[in-house]
Amino acid sequence: MWQSDPAQGPESAAVALSVVIPCYNEEGSLKELHRRVRRVCEDVAPGDFEIVLVDDGSGDRTRQLIRDFADQDMSVVGVFLSRNHGHQLALSAGLKTCCGARILILDADLQDPPELLPRMLEKMDEGADVVYGKRAKRAGETAFKNFSAHLFYRLLDRLSDISIPTDTGDFRLLSRRALNVLNSMPEHSRFIRGMVSWIGFTQVPIEYDRDPRFAGETKYTFSKMVRFAFDAISGFSIAPLRFSIFLSLICAMFGLILFVWTAYSYFSGIAIQGWTTLMTVVLILGSGQLLVLGVIGEYVGRIYLEAKSRPLFVVEEIVARGRHSAAPSGAAIKPKQPTFSQQK
Ligand code: UDP
Ligand code: MG
Repeated sequence: MWQSDPAQGPESAAVALSVVIPCYNEEGSLKELHRRVRRVCEDVAPGDFEIVLVDDGSGDRTRQLIRDFADQDMSVVGVFLSRNHGHQLALSAGLKTCCGARILILDADLQDPPELLPRMLEKMDEGADVVYGKRAKRAGETAFKNFSAHLFYRLLDRLSDISIPTDTGDFRLLSRRALNVLNSMPEHSRFIRGMVSWIGFTQVPIEYDRDPRFAGETKYTFSKMVRFAFDAISGFSIAPLRFSIFLSLICAMFGLILFVWTAYSYFSGIAIQGWTTLMTVVLILGSGQLLVLGVIGEYVGRIYLEAKSRPLFVVEEIVARGRHSAAPSGAAIKPKQPTFSQQK
């Protein structure tokens, strides 16, 4: 049996272990998820854990199922967001709410096996603050997803200023002190796996094969994936902004060659072919300028969003019968006013 290490957790760590799971339309997986997570937790920290299920504004029976679990199981904490906030914010809501000394982040679709937890805890016993899952194989993903993920992680590694391990997701075990740092980071465009890398401390990988989804479809549409990728890159690098300098140098060189050629042609009496050349140059330059403007626009847009400093998420209700810190009396709490994140 593994017990919490008081040196690692703050006073607020009420249980030894929290498992935080964002759920969006996951009615098909929840039962199996609850069974497997519970079994693993009972093995490693009997009676001293909580399972935080965050409902990210699902349109199916997810919320009702979580409510039922919380009714029957003292270890379940249900956090209901006021609407769909997206994976990273739903996860942030769970991470703010949980009160464990060690925290496991898991997806609801069981792509990442909770059974790895004992090995992850061992690595943490050896001194790690973050144990992150590194995907050796990804089963049941489309060729496009595998290819784009491969490309994305390598591009990010090239562009970003800190080293973000390739082929990792949010599946990881955090110590309380690492989570406290993460919770104190206020940005809205969140790329949590990168933010965790930024924290530092000792971070070690654990290799595993990623399973196919237990039920349902991926919630990451193509447009969500593109936005997520830009959140990641813009959050950790200003390389795209510097790209304009590189582009301008290329254009200047191109212009110089063209100038020399034009001058030579003029003095040697060769007629210059006008329209096509001119249009090509104008279009190339125009698209380059628009591209750079677009990149700057993306960054300005993000500054604008951050400047508004809205709360990251709105919690409509928390249900918990156990000894969770948000419900000390053991009753389900229904705040009359929605509770906001404590960010900033
Ligand atoms: N998710 C969420 N809100 C969203 C989209 C996804 O809470 O708007 C959750 C989803 O229920 C799952 C996790 O985030 O637990 C990862 O999503 P998914 O499995 O669809 O992503 P993939 O594994 O395909 O990258
Ligand atoms: Mg998944």
